[in-house]
Amino acid sequence: KVRVRFAPSPTGGLHLGGVRTALFNYLYARHHGGQFVLRIEDTDQTRFVPGAEEYINECLEWCGLTPDEAPNKPGEYGPYRQSERKASYRQYAEQLVNDGFAYYAFDTAEELDARRKEESNFRYSHENRLHLRNSLSLPKEETTKLLADGHPHTIRIKMPVEETVSFEDMIRGRVAFETGLVDDKVLLKADGMPTYHLAVVVDDKAMEISHVFRGEEWLPSAPVHILLWEYLGWKDKMPHWAHLPLILKPDGNGKLSKRDGDRLGFPVYAMNWTEPKSGDVTKGFREMGFLPEAFINMLAVLGWNDGTEQEIFSIEDLVSKFSVDRIGKAGAKFDFEKAKWFNHEWIKKIDDAQILPQLEELLKQHGVKYYAMDYVADVLTLVKERLIFIQDFWDQAFFFFTRPETYSVDAIKPKWDENKTAFFQDIAQEFMTIPTWTADSLEPFFKGKIADSGMKIGELMMPFRIMLVGGKFGPDVFQIAEILGKDEVVKRIEMALP
Ligand code: GLU
Repeated sequence: KVRVRFAPSPTGGLHLGGVRTALFNYLYARHHGGQFVLRIEDTDQTRFVPGAEEYINECLEWCGLTPDEAPNKPGEYGPYRQSERKASYRQYAEQLVNDGFAYYAFDTAEELDARRKEESNFRYSHENRLHLRNSLSLPKEETTKLLADGHPHTIRIKMPVEETVSFEDMIRGRVAFETGLVDDKVLLKADGMPTYHLAVVVDDKAMEISHVFRGEEWLPSAPVHILLWEYLGWKDKMPHWAHLPLILKPDGNGKLSKRDGDRLGFPVYAMNWTEPKSGDVTKGFREMGFLPEAFINMLAVLGWNDGTEQEIFSIEDLVSKFSVDRIGKAGAKFDFEKAKWFNHEWIKKIDDAQILPQLEELLKQHGVKYYAMDYVADVLTLVKERLIFIQDFWDQAFFFFTRPETYSVDAIKPKWDENKTAFFQDIAQEFMTIPTWTADSLEPFFKGKIADSGMKIGELMMPFRIMLVGGKFGPDVFQIAEILGKDEVVKRIEMALP
């Protein structure tokens, strides 16, 4: 039975890497007919940020990665917020102490800070633990007394001095660690809250998680987790691990960070994130004008491919094609230009019905009051090729919704003569009676009229365009005319004539 979880800490906006982790979990679950669980890892109360959990929910919803179980959609394995599971952790930490795999540590934060100042590479590990204040170094009675007095303490794992811990990562194959190099991580903090290391193991067990997909940054913690699974006597229930490759800066030089986005002018968050204290907004893909389909597609191929040249995948395609053996080990470079290309492709591919409500909104923002939806749909068909973002629609198509008030180029006026005025006056009249009003019939009609007039094509085509849109831009002029409709075209010609 496949059960996977996405386990973000509610500390702020969701970074690209976080959403990709959610996506790969989701794809694995759906591909195998399993469950996708959202667990909120909020045991570090100093890092808790109000609003972050709501942001995570909204983000998953926008991306279409709906969890089967979540804090706001509890299943049988709740609660789904670690802070609400607080009571369950201490017993395991104490069991580990009793079994000799962990110990009480009484050192205060100040004492440890002082040590770190003295010794820059100080580690709480087998090298030092017998010289620090803990239940391994103190006489038994003293430990008992300190505990009885309620002296603040943490519980730390006792890492073996010299052992090799290894496991089979689904992406990397066999990975091995020397335990002597890993510190004695805190499992239970002085406030009674577990650390990530203890909570992740206890909860993955309690929630019957079968596979863990998480970022590569957690790989160094894997030996601690594996030992905990073993020490708690759950080894046969241990999930399979997959550590996802990092998302790298565009130049491949290190992990993509929030600051790279600010520096290079692209978003690194899924949606806008507003810092509750300062009100500072970090920009997101959603608000920038990305379709969720494009965002998800772009993330899926950051580190995964289906073994072919195919790049455009719908979520359904991804669910059916996803396989762990096609996830790369190497970091994947983030390329914003490529992300934009995905959006462009998706705007072309997606059903108009999904875009039209956003266009309606956009037109409203620009003060356009009246328009028929099938008119907007026709315009969309014509300009789609030119859109990278939905908002580009306005720049590409504003002239369908507003008449030119000024003509940006003087092409109508200079070298203008009465023949031209007469030509357009005539053609405006003939337009009114022309039997079919399509680009295909307008073009030969218009060109035939030019030929009859004895003037040159170039002398009249550009003025026609400028009369309709106000400048030297836009798609095919006859297609523009078709969509604008006969009455509007005639009206615009009359308005433009001197
Ligand atoms: N809470 C961890 C994070 O925020 C989750 C790591 C994991 O998936 O085990 O990244």
